[in-house]
Amino acid sequence: MPNIVCAVCGAHSEQPLAQPVEPREPPDFDTRPGEPLRSTLSHWLQSCPHCEYAAPELSYAPEGVAVLVRSDEYGQCVGPFLKHAFLLDQLGHHADAGWMALQGAWFFDDSGDGGLALGCRTVALQFWKKGKAAGQNFAETVPEEFALVTDILRRSGMFQDALGTCLDALEDEELPPIIEDMLRMQKSFIEKQDYSRHSLAELPDRPAGSTRVTL
Ligand SMILES: [Zn+2]
Repeated sequence: MPNIVCAVCGAHSEQPLAQPVEPREPPDFDTRPGEPLRSTLSHWLQSCPHCEYAAPELSYAPEGVAVLVRSDEYGQCVGPFLKHAFLLDQLGHHADAGWMALQGAWFFDDSGDGGLALGCRTVALQFWKKGKAAGQNFAETVPEEFALVTDILRRSGMFQDALGTCLDALEDEELPPIIEDMLRMQKSFIEKQDYSRHSLAELPDRPAGSTRVTL
C-alpha cells in the first residue's frame, strides 16, 4: 500500500491502491458495475485517518476543501462517499455529488446498513435535483435519467413515486429499446413491491436486427 500525504492536514497514511479492473458481468439497473469491479468499491476513495478528508486521491485537494473538511457538517456525513459527496456539492458539482452519494448507498448495501443506504439514495436524488435546477445533467440522456431515478426510488421503497416516474418515462415513444425493456421490467418489480437489486443480465434477449413487438 502506498504512503500518501494528505493535502488537507499533511499527515502520512497507508492507502489502498485501486487496481484497474474491468467488469465482466453486466451492471445493476442503477449502474453499479458487475464483478470483479463491483467488489473493489471500498478502494474507490482514500480516507485520511487524521482529518477524515475523503477523496479519490488524498494528495490533491481543490481550493476551499480544507475549510469544508473542518466544518461540523462534514463531520456529520457518515462514511467516505457521503463525505466526498458533501464536498462536491459544496463546490458546485451537484450532479457528481449525486453519483458519489449513490456509490455511498452501494457501500452501505455491502455493509448491511440499510438505513444509511436509504439516506444515501435520498441525498443522491436531492443532489441531482439541485443539479438539474443549475443546468447539470446527471446522465447522457433524459430517458437514462428517468430509468435511474425509477430504480433509486424503487430501491428506497418509494413504490408510488417509482411507478409514477416509470410510467412518465414509458410515455416517450422514442425510447431506446434497452431503456424501454428496463422500464417495463421495473414496472413489474414495483408492482411486486420488490426493492432488491436487479442486474441487466435479467433483461429479455432481443435478437439483433429484430423489430420490437409492442404489447
Ligand atoms: Zn488529513
